[in-house]
Amino acid sequence: MLVAADVHLPTLMLAAAGVALLCAAVTSAMLAGQPQARGRGAWSAAQWLAAVGLAAFALTGGGVPASTLGAVLLLVWPVLVVLGVRRFHGRQPPPIHPGFDAGVLAIALLVALADGATHAPGTAWLGAMTVVHGHAAWVLFGAPARRHSAALRRLVALVGSAAAVHGTTWVASLVHDPAVPDAPVALSMLASALSVAAMAFATMGLTHERTVDELRESRRRLRYLANIDMLTQVPNRRHFGELARRVLQSAGGRSAAVLMLDIDHFKRINDELGHAAGDRALRLVARCVQETLRADDVAGRYGGDEFALLLPRTDLRDAMAVATRIVQRAQRLAREHGTPQLSLSFGVVQMRDDESLDEALRRADQALYEAKRQGRGRAVSADGDELHPVFVESRRLGLV
Ligand code: GH3
Ligand code: MG
Repeated sequence: MLVAADVHLPTLMLAAAGVALLCAAVTSAMLAGQPQARGRGAWSAAQWLAAVGLAAFALTGGGVPASTLGAVLLLVWPVLVVLGVRRFHGRQPPPIHPGFDAGVLAIALLVALADGATHAPGTAWLGAMTVVHGHAAWVLFGAPARRHSAALRRLVALVGSAAAVHGTTWVASLVHDPAVPDAPVALSMLASALSVAAMAFATMGLTHERTVDELRESRRRLRYLANIDMLTQVPNRRHFGELARRVLQSAGGRSAAVLMLDIDHFKRINDELGHAAGDRALRLVARCVQETLRADDVAGRYGGDEFALLLPRTDLRDAMAVATRIVQRAQRLAREHGTPQLSLSFGVVQMRDDESLDEALRRADQALYEAKRQGRGRAVSADGDELHPVFVESRRLGLV
């Protein structure tokens, strides 16, 4: 026997219908406050139609035609759930064409209506329920979003379980005990009520997951905006400091070189060619710097037309060579793009073991100032300390 004899079925059905109506109301109210959840209309409709269908069946005690109408409404639930998911995950829809959903539903409705015209829902309706729920579970299982959405995986499990219960009651109805003729149908009705209740939680899970994803993405975007200079797409001064300190820590105290780079007579570019040409020059220099550096080197826009570079595990000779390569690349790019040639000045220092990044940057700035003083278009390396800088080498990086 599928239902215990001491359970009063009509009361149970009424209670189930009441729970389903409550869950439909909760789903609608919750989704109404989530305008970003596309597909919420289909989900709310699925919940209300199923709840009304259960109520129609429970109130008429299986009398035709109200119970047939109720049974038909329950058939629509899985297809509307799928429609909601198709809209919710509009960018990664399930690969099965929506027309297929409509076709399966149409056939199921025809079967249920033809069978229910003369008597209460029975074996044909149970078969139709199994097919639409099975189809819905199959479509949802194929949705690409399932791979990264735990909430969607739970929904697949919910619809799949419902399909399994309806399939079991269908088989049971084919070999049913004549003493309890309505038991399989009643069990399927109860399973539908449970599905509607669980769907209220499933929609909450899906929308909550979406909200968390969006929050994470906007945090990532905010972090990007706070760290990256929008014009040149290199780290800004503050973020350069963070990255450089992190690299210095992981370099394990092995010596690093620090460079300061500044565009010569940049104001002239702005004044004579316009601010947009100045912006293009800044972008070109940033690109040359990034294309020249190794993976664990760090570059940042220090302000205006000044850039700072930290090259871990690099001596002065190699750092001077990096400055040369940046200038050569800038000249090549300027030729290729037909833009005016740029002249760059560099200050280069070797970081000492007892020296902080800020101290090394200040010494590199002194060397840069010396490069400007010596006539620009050159890299000057400095030794000594901040109070007594010794300018070791001055290498011309002029146009070739
Ligand atoms: P020097 O050879 O001594 O470096 O001379 P300079 O003309 O390059 O002088 P300085 O480095 O002081 O010039 C910085 C100029 O950069 C001043 C400012 O108007 C301009 N500038 C700062 N930020 C931007 C920007 O984002 N875009 C543009 N186009 N210009 C900027
Ligand atoms: Mg300048």
